[in-house]
Amino acid sequence: MMNPFSYHNPTRIHFGEGQIAAITNEIPKSSKVMVLYGGGSIKANGVYDQVVKALSEHQWIEFSGIEPNPQYDTLMKAVEQIKAEGVDYLLAVGGGSVVDGTKFVAAAACYEGQDPWDMWSKGISVKHALPIGCILTLPATGSESNKASVVSRGNDKIGYMSSKIQPVFAVLDPTTTLSLSPRQISNGVVDAYVHVMEQYLTFPVDAKVQDRFAEGLLLTLIEEGPKALTNPDDLAVRANIMWSATQALNGLIGVGVPQDWVTHMIGHELTGNYGIDHARTLSIVLPAVMKERRQEKAAKLLQYAERIFGITEGSDDERIDAAIAKTEAFFKAMQVPTRLKDVELGESDIDVLLSGLEKHGMTALGEHGKIGIADSEAILRTAL
Ligand code: NAP
Ligand code: FE
Repeated sequence: MMNPFSYHNPTRIHFGEGQIAAITNEIPKSSKVMVLYGGGSIKANGVYDQVVKALSEHQWIEFSGIEPNPQYDTLMKAVEQIKAEGVDYLLAVGGGSVVDGTKFVAAAACYEGQDPWDMWSKGISVKHALPIGCILTLPATGSESNKASVVSRGNDKIGYMSSKIQPVFAVLDPTTTLSLSPRQISNGVVDAYVHVMEQYLTFPVDAKVQDRFAEGLLLTLIEEGPKALTNPDDLAVRANIMWSATQALNGLIGVGVPQDWVTHMIGHELTGNYGIDHARTLSIVLPAVMKERRQEKAAKLLQYAERIFGITEGSDDERIDAAIAKTEAFFKAMQVPTRLKDVELGESDIDVLLSGLEKHGMTALGEHGKIGIADSEAILRTAL
């Protein structure tokens, strides 16, 4: 049986070429807007100019320099400026890091306690946050229409969820993604793929609709992902990837089903301690999770083998092996690492990662909270 759930995704999506213009009417003219962005990709690809045009009747200021894996110290500078200038609406323009960072800023600007970091690090709930709109330029995280935000402070990379920080609207114009480097295209496709897997490759198996939605997304990413690398000018490919990445983590496929997320939690330690790109941590950890948890996840692995890769021949074990091999082959086609050694990490790094998991309370992971530190160690050893 499916678990009981309540479902509501309040983010209005404006999808397609030319939709950046929609922000003119989405953001109230009476507001004072802060446009937040990253290291400047939006200036090089013309997105910034479109924003300037669309906000010609608004009062607005800007904050740039939000880095990949956004850092607390950077974000607090935006908070200071917001307070000083009376900003009351935030517009995030960029990838998941800018959107996640803006979510933290939105909550921190309204926080009444001592240190806003306590919300993310201690799970203190967000009472108020500034409204957020976003223009997404990198399909990957789903952050544009979900309530999650991942922020780092030093080596501590912490995920947090609150409906108060979910964007009011999101513009998804696939043309903005044409300027992505092959590395960022790959990262995006792989992150979205693993988001689906975290919600799909769980047990028990009972949610037919969620399963088939998830399978539709996996098949689309497998079909279109490599094409984005070989035919980088194909806008139709980019559009399909962009919509897949949003659907992968907007709540829909995750309703009523157990969710895993162990790959992400171990991945956060790899990024926090070694600076490895988020998606590249996932492509290393997921195959090891599939191998280590093949008993519990057997029924779903067999369904995955058949419905995604058409594997029907052989014993259960052989079909599961084949599905894991196909998954790794897809990651390789997307040119991302699949082992710790591919990123020059080895046995001596495992303790650092396990200490991080312990420090961050990640000691009961997986869809049923049964993955302890020893299990994470086994996963990391398998990933060597
Ligand atoms: P990102 O860190 O936002 O961006 C990576 C790089 O891509 C940046 O250097 C950025 O440059 C560049 N870029 C973005 N759009 C571009 C474009 N259209 N053309 C050229 N370059 C572009 O990447 P991301 O994968 O979207 O986000 C990763 C972060 O999201 C991680 O911290 C991860 O943990 C988190 N995450 C969040 C969720 C969630 O649900 N909230 C889920 C999974 C992961 P500029 O800085 O110059 O723009
Ligand atoms: Fe992710």
